[in-house]
Amino acid sequence: MNPDLLVDNPRPTVAAPALRTKAELRAALEPARRRGLAIGLVPTMGYLHEGHLSLIRAARAGCDLVVMSLFVNPTQFGLGEDLDRYPRDEERDLRLAAEAGADLVFAPPVSEVYAPDASTAVEVTGPLTSVLDGDPARRGPEHFRGVTTVVAKLFNLVGPDVAYFGQKDAQQAVVIRRMVRDLDFPVRIEVLPTVREDDGLAMSSRNAYLEPADRERATALSRALAAAEREAHNGSLAAGLDAARRELAAAAIEPEYLEARDAETLEPVAELADRPVLVAVAARVGAARLIDNVLIQSAAQRPHT
Ligand code: AMP
Repeated sequence: MNPDLLVDNPRPTVAAPALRTKAELRAALEPARRRGLAIGLVPTMGYLHEGHLSLIRAARAGCDLVVMSLFVNPTQFGLGEDLDRYPRDEERDLRLAAEAGADLVFAPPVSEVYAPDASTAVEVTGPLTSVLDGDPARRGPEHFRGVTTVVAKLFNLVGPDVAYFGQKDAQQAVVIRRMVRDLDFPVRIEVLPTVREDDGLAMSSRNAYLEPADRERATALSRALAAAEREAHNGSLAAGLDAARRELAAAAIEPEYLEARDAETLEPVAELADRPVLVAVAARVGAARLIDNVLIQSAAQRPHT
């Protein structure tokens, strides 16, 4: 592929070219960089769904060149997690990525990303990575260290002007924003709303693990969050969490956590005040570990109707 063609010619419509090496990626991006074009990056682990595609479309609308990365990052999976069975379909991903507007897909093998003796990590410390999914009893801070290390590497490799993430992984987005601020990465982070199935289930590659009966039960997560928001506005945040717990219990779902936290600092909050509150839930439903969340604004923050 002649990289100049990529910048000058229409975007690929059949399948986005998959670049396997860092050298290929750098060569493909060089002309765009030389011309000062705006580069957008959408990091993914593949098995694309509408959530991913919404990020690619936003990147297409906001940038001149759109790069999607497709990499199931082993360092963010703990022992006993689903690294080995994580769903994959690269051919379909390359087609969907191109249709949504990706110019390039960086899909390296693990050996291209991590040297066997790699000994450097990027870690956001403190409460952002030690609560919710970062609680050592759950995925733990190591999960986020894996995420921030690979995202920092992708930022260094791609040099994006804008990087796109989903609100579905709210804690991840908060952690990445903190990393970017603390380490002065010259990139703007955009976080886009959670895309849901018609019945409310947040789209996730891991939904593929759900058997039909569990797929039905899984709708309780979004119902629980909707109840939390409703009751938080009508009564109190505590009443909202109670209502959410009842919705989960009715579907025989025992959450790993269901918590209300400041949307930026992730400090616990007891009441709605003048800052957005994140109500986040994680639960095992059948063979899948699912997460979801809702951002609740206080009455003062909501636009008047
Ligand atoms: P993943 O492939 O699961 O690592 O996700 C890649 C990116 O897509 C992350 O920024 C996710 O937050 C985002 N994402 C995943 N699911 C959704 C969804 N349902 N709606 C919006 N963004 C999503």
